[in-house]
Amino acid sequence: MIIDCHGHYTTAPKALEEWRNRQIAALTDPAQQPSATDLRISDDELRESIATNQLKKMRERGSDLTIFSPRASFMAHHIGTFETSATWAGICNELCYRVSQLFPDNFIGAAMLPQSPGVDPSSCIPELERCVKEYGFVGINLNPDPSGGHWTSPPLSDRYWYPIYEKMVEFGIPAMVHVSTSCNACFHTTGAHYLNADTTAFMQCLTSDLFKDFPELKFVIPHGGGAVPYHWGRFRGLAQELKKPLLEEHLLNNIFFDTCVYHQPGIDLLTKVIPVDNILFASEMIGAVRGVDPQTGFYFDDTLRYVEASSTLSAEDRHKIYEGNARRVYPRLDATLKRKGQ
Ligand SMILES: [Zn+2]
Repeated sequence: MIIDCHGHYTTAPKALEEWRNRQIAALTDPAQQPSATDLRISDDELRESIATNQLKKMRERGSDLTIFSPRASFMAHHIGTFETSATWAGICNELCYRVSQLFPDNFIGAAMLPQSPGVDPSSCIPELERCVKEYGFVGINLNPDPSGGHWTSPPLSDRYWYPIYEKMVEFGIPAMVHVSTSCNACFHTTGAHYLNADTTAFMQCLTSDLFKDFPELKFVIPHGGGAVPYHWGRFRGLAQELKKPLLEEHLLNNIFFDTCVYHQPGIDLLTKVIPVDNILFASEMIGAVRGVDPQTGFYFDDTLRYVEASSTLSAEDRHKIYEGNARRVYPRLDATLKRKGQ
C-alpha cells in the first residue's frame, strides 16, 4: 500500500470559497454574516470534486490512501477572531470527513485547528477532540505562525503549546507543522513562507528540550523539511556547539520529513541525508506546484516517480517510506487499517 501523508482539499466546490468570502465580508459588515448551515454542498458535488482530481491522479500515479486535510492556504488563521476560525475550521474539517466517508479506502482525515493569533492554543482542543473521536481523523495540522507571516506566537518549544501536545500524546496523533497564507509581502506563501516555516520549526526543536518533556510527541515537517536536509551539516554543527545530543537521538525519534520535493536531485539528497525511518511518502497533490516539468515531461508533484527512481533505496526502504513509517507515525491510521484487515 502507498500512503500519501500530505493532501489537502484544494478542489472543494466553489460554494466553500463563496461562504468564506461572506464570512470575511461580515467582519466589517455584520449583516453579511453567514451561518454554517448556509453552506450546502451535496455528496455528488463532493464526489465529483475528488473523483476528477485527486483520486484520478492517485490512480494514474499509483498511490492508494491520502491523509487529507483542509486546504492549507485557506486556513488563514490571521483573519478575524477565534470564533471566525472556529466556525471555518468546523466547516472545512467536516468536508474532509465527508470525503473520507465517500471514499473510505482512499482518504482519511487530518484536522485543521481553529487557531487565532494571540489566543490560547487550548481553545483548539474541542475541535481536535471532535475530529478524532467523531470523524476518526488520524492527525492534525499545527500552524506555528497563525499571524500569517509575522511570527507573533512563541516558538513551538514554548509551554504555550503544551496543551495541544498533551492532547496529541493522549490521542496518539502526530502534527504536520503547516503554516497558511502569508499576509507579509516579503514572504510568498508557498515559495517562501512554507519552506521558511519548515526550517524554523526544526530549529525551534533543535534549540530546545521539547522532546524530553514529550518523548512520544511526533511532528511531520512537510515540503521535504524545507532547508533542513540540504543544510544537515549546519544543523549538526549548531547542535554540537549548543551541547545538544546528536540529532539522531535529540530529534529523530520525534521529527519526520515528507517527500514533497519536486525534482529527482532533491529526493536523492533527502533519502541520502535523512534516515529512511524518518521519511514519509507524500506529494501534496493537488497543491502548490501543479504544472508539468518540461525537463521530464511529468508533473512536478508526481513524487512517487522520484522515490521509485532513487538508486540508493532498497525494496525494504521503499516499503518503509510508502507505508511502514506512516503506520508508525500515525498509530490511529494503523489501527483503522487493521480493523479493515489491511
Ligand atoms: Zn500542505
